[in-house]
Amino acid sequence: MKVLFVIGTRPEAIKLAPVILECQKKKGIQVLVCSTGQHKELLDSAFEQWSLIPDIELDVMQAGQGLNELLSKLLSQLDIVLSDAKPDCVVVQGDTSSCLAGALASFQRKIPVYHVEAGLRTNDKSAPFPEELNRQLVSRIAHVHFAPTEKNKRALLREGISDNNIVVTGNTVIDALMMCQKKMTPESNPEILKLQGIYEPKKKLLLVTGHRRENIGAGFLELIDALRELASNPSLQIIYPLHLNPAVREPMIQALGKTDGIFLIEALGYEAFVWLMSKSFLIISDSGGVQEEAPSLNKPVLVLREQTEREEAIEAGTVKLIGTLKEAIVHGVQELIEDEDAYMEMTQKPNPYGDGMAAKRIVDFLASVE
Ligand code: UDP
Repeated sequence: MKVLFVIGTRPEAIKLAPVILECQKKKGIQVLVCSTGQHKELLDSAFEQWSLIPDIELDVMQAGQGLNELLSKLLSQLDIVLSDAKPDCVVVQGDTSSCLAGALASFQRKIPVYHVEAGLRTNDKSAPFPEELNRQLVSRIAHVHFAPTEKNKRALLREGISDNNIVVTGNTVIDALMMCQKKMTPESNPEILKLQGIYEPKKKLLLVTGHRRENIGAGFLELIDALRELASNPSLQIIYPLHLNPAVREPMIQALGKTDGIFLIEALGYEAFVWLMSKSFLIISDSGGVQEEAPSLNKPVLVLREQTEREEAIEAGTVKLIGTLKEAIVHGVQELIEDEDAYMEMTQKPNPYGDGMAAKRIVDFLASVE
């Protein structure tokens, strides 16, 4: 069986790497990896972490292009890939434009689609935008849905998807995290060595990431004000690996580039980022993956969003939605600094997203397909 993986962004590479590596071990499965280049540099760094080399590399990214132009390029370039490679099935992950295009292009060529990380929902098409709708559309297309949790499965059942076509697997990001922790070598990772020169162990580290389209503009301006106020606390150190999107990074660099106590750094490779998460006191983020990973490292996450498709973490109490208002961000951080019980409450919970065996479950299922 020839399986084609379509991957466009950093989280897709991180979350599909364990599945690809597991597939490569299986007799009878031929693996092909197509990188669409949606987030070229971040994607290359994520592939490097796992020594993965894509078999096919597309080049869809162009500065300033809109979502429609991106999607149309993805569809036309992926169509050629499907026509040349003739895979028996296509695996897509998550909710990006590459994921949607991979699914739709395959559907139009009558190739079965397997959707990893299916069934996450905010049920609000405006957030995350456009990812919520992308993920819903892929659920209409996919042949089999790999749902990380029972809650995700229930969402799919409510939408009329048959029980027979849903497999609950856990989230593959936990597999990735565990694999990374196992083979981590801080002493020979140049990024970690550099971070060790910045990191001040005597202070409480506040790790920040942000990239969501909905937060560009007003949301990030509030975050800037909040970080400026928090940086005036001498017992805190703030490290913020910036996303490559100029609309996110430029305002941050302009406003906070010279602020004492705040270190704006480039986006990190996965191993270095996991190392930094493990050193943090608290994480402020609008990232989906970080909400899933942090509970395994016993780190609380304050989420810069009004709603999340990762409700399991809210219910488990490992993450808190705080939105993007300055006062809420500052208050959320101060509360966890001052109230040890509240901090412990958020950090001593089992991770609801899995046990590190998700990739095996997915590949066992793929291998069982006639
Ligand atoms: N991540 C990384 N380097 C960084 C920041 C994040 O490797 O500098 C990882 C993080 O651990 C998580 C993933 O990237 O696995 C999240 O990606 P992102 O926030 O871009 O996307 P989302 O998860 O929101 O879809």
